[in-house]
Amino acid sequence: MSFNPDTALVDRHGRLHTYMRVSVTDRCNFRCVYCMPAEGHAWLPRDEVLRFEEIVRIVRVMAPSGLRRVRLTGGEPLLRRDLVDLVAELVATPGIDDVSMTTNAFGLADLAAPLARAGLRRVNISIDSLQPERFAAVTRGGKLASVLDGIAAAHAAGLGPVKLNMVVMRGVNDDEIVPLAEACLPGGALAGAVETVLRFIEYMPFEGRWHENVPAKEIRERLAAAGTLTSDSGTIPGVGPATYARWMPAHGTGSVRVGFIAPLTEHFCALCNRLRLLVDGHLRTCLGYEDTPSLRDLLRSGGSDAELLHAIAAIVRGKPAGHLAETEGGTAFEGVMTSIGG
Ligand code: SAM
Ligand code: SF4
Repeated sequence: MSFNPDTALVDRHGRLHTYMRVSVTDRCNFRCVYCMPAEGHAWLPRDEVLRFEEIVRIVRVMAPSGLRRVRLTGGEPLLRRDLVDLVAELVATPGIDDVSMTTNAFGLADLAAPLARAGLRRVNISIDSLQPERFAAVTRGGKLASVLDGIAAAHAAGLGPVKLNMVVMRGVNDDEIVPLAEACLPGGALAGAVETVLRFIEYMPFEGRWHENVPAKEIRERLAAAGTLTSDSGTIPGVGPATYARWMPAHGTGSVRVGFIAPLTEHFCALCNRLRLLVDGHLRTCLGYEDTPSLRDLLRSGGSDAELLHAIAAIVRGKPAGHLAETEGGTAFEGVMTSIGG
């Protein structure tokens, strides 16, 4: 691919940015203990939230400079009205060949089929426990049964591979590493018509260190102790910072692909190809740094497409080499996860 050097989405470290996570709302119906304080956050006033036509315009302007994949996130993206229409518009944008979503799946039972018809390719779904009471405690009120219905609907709609995300916290849910993997085996509660991939995410400290992280190395060891873990470099649609392996239980049949996202202990900054469009229009280049300008003011002050693209390219060029939160004792990540979108 060759791009105009003035407008290419390439930073000073030579990284081309083909992938953008778009947070469509900071609101959420859950209050996960790793994501939000118990009292929640003050939601942004609606007029400060990017409008759909503004999101579509930013994506359209970036596509000729290298953007290929968009992931909708939040807060909880399913809460945003007319989400199906946004998906359809993004899918129709020339140059964009993959639109996916990260969701808590509450309400997905009704929306999976319309989203798939609009062209959504895949969903990543957060699920941190299979015990209804613990699930309610971790999400501060979430109903596991509705999420399981949402996962089943994602399978039925062909939104695959269905990637399940588990944030592992010591003493909270780390005893469910193996049970969750077992539930993803063929015939298990989390399996279905399309492939299920289970990804273990290291807890990232934002603003405060509320929980203890379990390093990916330890998660691999626990799986290996309960079966066989073999590395798996097969192609996975939408592959990002995860490393993958295949796990076979010591007792039982079948196998499941498992992934490890280890932003602290095996950080992947050198290969980072992602940008984050925040709910208020800030274009964030790195989870470790909050200080990036908003595109919203430029959009709303009548800036042209060319001005918008030059502003975006300049922000991308200024991307830092990486974050500084590699260790438990390191600096916390900056900002609020519900407006950043994970
Ligand atoms: N509400 C949707 C969901 O839960 O999937 C999308 C937004 S959520 C902020 C996106 C991702 O961020 C989820 O996979 C969630 O597990 C992850 N996440 C939130 N806070 C985190 C933290 N402190 N450490 C690691 N992952 C986190
Ligand atoms: Fe909501 Fe997702 Fe954050 Fe949980 S992780 S509080 S579902 S935005």
